[in-house]
Amino acid sequence: MLGQMMDDALTITSIMKFAMKVFPDTEIVSVTGDNPRHRSTFGKAFTRVHQLANALSKLGCAPGDRIATLAWNDYRHFELYYGISCSGYVCHTINPRLFPEQVSYIVNHAEDQWIFVDPAFLPMLEQLQAELKTVRGFVVLTSKAAMPETSLNNVRCYEELIEAEADSFTWPELDENSASSLCYTSGTTGNPKGVLYSHRSTVLHCLGTNTKDTLALAPDETIMPVVPMFHVNAWGSVYGAAMAGTKLVFPGPKMGDGETLATLINEEGVTFALGVPTVWLALVNYLQESGSKVESLQRLVVGGAACPRSLMEAMDAYNVDMHVGWGMTEMSPLGTYNTLLPWMHDLPEDEKFAYRLKAGRLIYGVEMRIVDEEVNELAWDGKVSGRLQVRGPWICKSYYKLEDSDAHLPDGWFDTGDVATIDQYGFMQITDRTKDVIKSGGEWISSIDVENAAMGHEDVAEAAVIGVPHPKWTERPLLVVVKRPGSEPQKADLLGYLDGKIAKWWIPEDCVFVEEIPHTATGKVSKKDLRELFADYSY
Ligand code: ADP
Repeated sequence: MLGQMMDDALTITSIMKFAMKVFPDTEIVSVTGDNPRHRSTFGKAFTRVHQLANALSKLGCAPGDRIATLAWNDYRHFELYYGISCSGYVCHTINPRLFPEQVSYIVNHAEDQWIFVDPAFLPMLEQLQAELKTVRGFVVLTSKAAMPETSLNNVRCYEELIEAEADSFTWPELDENSASSLCYTSGTTGNPKGVLYSHRSTVLHCLGTNTKDTLALAPDETIMPVVPMFHVNAWGSVYGAAMAGTKLVFPGPKMGDGETLATLINEEGVTFALGVPTVWLALVNYLQESGSKVESLQRLVVGGAACPRSLMEAMDAYNVDMHVGWGMTEMSPLGTYNTLLPWMHDLPEDEKFAYRLKAGRLIYGVEMRIVDEEVNELAWDGKVSGRLQVRGPWICKSYYKLEDSDAHLPDGWFDTGDVATIDQYGFMQITDRTKDVIKSGGEWISSIDVENAAMGHEDVAEAAVIGVPHPKWTERPLLVVVKRPGSEPQKADLLGYLDGKIAKWWIPEDCVFVEEIPHTATGKVSKKDLRELFADYSY
């Protein structure tokens, strides 16, 4: 027997319509390249979203088209999120920190039709233009007055594009399972892979991550997503804020700058902010050096990498509660969130820290398990570790255009590539990774690409790259090399050789020479053994 309730579609359009009615005056404050403090509201932004929808339709966009953004966090990017998805197109957020070749791969793979771009990223697109096969034109995210010179073909100015348009639009009735946005992850080996979110998964993730024990967004909060909008939809916060009537503060291009963050927090009354450890380190360093305070700030979510205890302690000294979150691009992203159970607050200091530093407690909506190599489920005893697998309505089923490859889905579970313990209360702790990548400042570095580049040097017999701890970037790559017999390569030559072959920030700071690199029985480099060999190495 079926239930007899209405089955209205769960769409991003419904979030927009709700916020327009209930929270039209809630503010959106942004730093942009052309304005140090732009002020808008949900009402104004969504009115412009209607104009944008008319403009997109005139640009010839068809249902399901991928429309790309290459932009920092600000109100125009916010408008694109809603304008593109609610019109029935797919908002493809591109990470501008990727190596240009990866950007052109992603644009071509997604078959993007238009790219909405911040002026700062024009040089990259100018360099790539000839390779971008499907792109019909570019829209620069700025005003007519600030429009820069560019050699790109078919270029429009965002403000000019939308200003002439009507502020009413008939939104299509979308199937809740239709695609809403697309984000490529390079956190796997091989080419970046596209994660295609749906309206339904986005709305469910918003609902599932806005309980009192998780993001707890509400009209009395002001949030600042320092996590980029090209990283899993700013961890969903941009939709959650509209659903909950929460004031949004966008830091624009200055998101790594402690002074800008502190100023925005103090002047806009930010209560809650989201970002990777590296940005909170920049904030703490600035506060300690300048003697400034951040009195409105009550809590932070730190994710994307493990949180060092020293950082959490430093934030405690400013009365800012740090909550660790864990997730992935493939998980929309949230899977666990760290809030202590009531009795844990009374634990001795060290035991309490041990809990607070874990990757967090499983949230409703995600199922999680740890398994051994034979996929036997392991106990939740907080001791035994295994491959971490997840499933649920906001977890990726297959990658975009790789629908047939279910390598990540043994019997319907998504293998995260993380290795973890889970305890009896559902607190998860990451202990290792099976994926051969390094995470530096919240961004992935492919060990394999760095190794292949290094192997091209004539004096290198074998090269391997591992991640080692770094105080600012959490992890940085270390190049381990076996010299070709009879040659005497120098560190500086080898590292200099990588320049131009991989992204600058992927180049390891150091290179060590060894007689032999450990291998597994099947002849592959044993990263596990190599990491153990260099367990005491740190930058
Ligand atoms: P995100 O943008 O959320 O960082 P990615 O897909 O780029 O998403 O990265 C996901 C990976 O980052 C995880 O599989 C894990 O290896 C790492 N990660 C995320 N959160 C944490 C955390 N709290 N502690 C340790 N590692 C983490």
